[in-house]
Amino acid sequence: MTFRSYMDIALDEARAAAARGEVPVGAVIVDPLGRIVALAGNRTRELSDPTAHAEVLVIREACARLNAERLPDHDLYVTLEPCPMCATAISFARIRRLYFGASDPKSGGVLQGPRIFEQSQCHHVPEVFDGIGEAPSAALLKSFFAERRS
Ligand SMILES: [Zn+2]
Repeated sequence: MTFRSYMDIALDEARAAAARGEVPVGAVIVDPLGRIVALAGNRTRELSDPTAHAEVLVIREACARLNAERLPDHDLYVTLEPCPMCATAISFARIRRLYFGASDPKSGGVLQGPRIFEQSQCHHVPEVFDGIGEAPSAALLKSFFAERRS
């Protein structure tokens, strides 16, 4: 499997989130052998939980599965630039590589805003690859918010 197909799976999770009325963001965690250990879309409305972003949900699920508080050598794919909360969770989880799709000028915390990974208080910095599957991710968000406004 290539990283492209993992992002396709994250996009499927984002579409499923949109179908549930959630902000369409999807995430996948892949173990060192390339196996998917967790996948999720946003569930903040369903769970009445403002922290139930896709990234937090996959980190929780992967850690629970592995019975571990950290995920070294694991990679996280997410369709949208992580917010500051999720970027911090990704650092705490010791994720090896972060791949994300669209950048998020409004709420992102990696390339803009607080730039979590550039802070000296951030003790683990993943390798970051942005713009992976950017166009479909951005289109999904755009149509979701356009529908909600109409
Ligand atoms: Zn987030």
